[in-house]
Amino acid sequence: MQIVCLDLEGVLVPEIWIAFAERTGIAEFRRTTRDEPDYDKLMRFRLALLRERGLKLADIQAVIAGLAPLPGAREFLDDLRTRYQVVILSDTFYEFADPLMRQLGRPTLFCHRLVTDAEGYVAAYRLRQPDQKRQAVNAFKGLNFQVLAAGDSYNDTGMLAAADAGFFIHAPPAIAAQFPQFAVHGDYAALRASIDGAARRLS
Ligand SMILES: [Mg+2]
Repeated sequence: MQIVCLDLEGVLVPEIWIAFAERTGIAEFRRTTRDEPDYDKLMRFRLALLRERGLKLADIQAVIAGLAPLPGAREFLDDLRTRYQVVILSDTFYEFADPLMRQLGRPTLFCHRLVTDAEGYVAAYRLRQPDQKRQAVNAFKGLNFQVLAAGDSYNDTGMLAAADAGFFIHAPPAIAAQFPQFAVHGDYAALRASIDGAARRLS
């Protein structure tokens, strides 16, 4: 029995914060886990910057509502889901993800939650659990599933290492070079071939 775990941003949809930076013209929002591997540090920076610029959750949601999945992502996912159980493991938030998940056919998503204050500002974020991608993979293995995983960045490497087979897709060369144990893929066709090959080897 096999489960495929995929990251969301950078793998199936654009980086939400980068799109937000482009829309608002505030370049500091471009910083992602690719630049700052310490996720808590990155999020505290983002929340402080939102407050400083007077931007509320509704402003971010308005940008996300205008985003679409990456070209070919829906077809890749639909094809994968005909052959595997697929779970999206993301460090985004349910409050952000909904319009994109609708466009992806609502696959299962495990992510985090935001807390807003009375004025609609994002006051805090709540991780469902620390290191949740790795924890989810280990939990699935505890349920006697084999896990195949793909991601694009630092925050995926725990998940890729815990999985029975882990792959990079769309990973920046500098990150891929630090983790040579995970094969690099530039498009969905190549990733699909690697997932299917690993699934055959493992079964
Ligand atoms: Mg990502």
